[in-house]
Amino acid sequence: MLDRIRIVLIGTSHPGNIGGVARAMHNMGLADLALVAPRCDVLTQESISRASGADHLLHRAAIHATLEDAVADCTLAVGASARSRTLPWPMISPRELAERLPTECRPANARIALVFGREDSGLTNAELQRCHAHVHIPTNADFSSLNLAAAVQVLAYECRMAWLTQADAPPAQEDDEEAALASHEELERYFEHLERTLIAIEFHDPAQPRQLMARLRRLYLRARPEKMEMNILRGILSATEKAAQPNTTPR
Ligand code: SAH
Repeated sequence: MLDRIRIVLIGTSHPGNIGGVARAMHNMGLADLALVAPRCDVLTQESISRASGADHLLHRAAIHATLEDAVADCTLAVGASARSRTLPWPMISPRELAERLPTECRPANARIALVFGREDSGLTNAELQRCHAHVHIPTNADFSSLNLAAAVQVLAYECRMAWLTQADAPPAQEDDEEAALASHEELERYFEHLERTLIAIEFHDPAQPRQLMARLRRLYLRARPEKMEMNILRGILSATEKAAQPNTTPR
């Protein structure tokens, strides 16, 4: 289960924090670290010293240009956020996240991303809207923002507790075979196709977006579509494009 959990750090600016994250992860048995457009060097004296012996995670860390690349294969993405944002999104506590993990990790293609933001400005709305849910660590309302590595430590601890509890639970039944969920990449391709189609049929005006795409994202992410369902939805979009513009080939 712990092998299926990836820690994703976006735009980190302090090597010490990256090292602190590696230490927190290794302490709790997590090993999959992905960095999105880091704003500092990853392997420095400071990051290695803060990793305190967990620097193999830094050497192995994947570096990506975008969040999409870092979570392309993920079936669940949860964004860690210190603040609530304009469009309400499913919000869970670290404990609720832990309760969901054993089931989330069960399908054969399961891959979970826990996404953390920049030290100075957190996660953007666009990044948060790419996540199925947001997790908020309950803190003093007047001083709610944890240090990045401390926030990773809290969620990594919950992951470990979920794993320890699960080790005591009876194994899943043979006939419990779960259908493969659509990956983040498949969902993103669907959202692009959906937006294109909605523009073509003049339902959506990008000049007056009114949060339409964000609301639709929230709806589809809540539904957790399977791969096969995603194919049906893509097929409906292609047929819609064809019906709307019979002379052009749908892309
Ligand atoms: N100043 C930023 C927070 C930066 S802390 C802001 O106001 O948004 C760096 C990252 O640690 C955050 O992006 C978030 O991913 C995580 N984090 C910090 N405090 C948190 C909390 N209380 N709950 C969940 N995540 C938190």
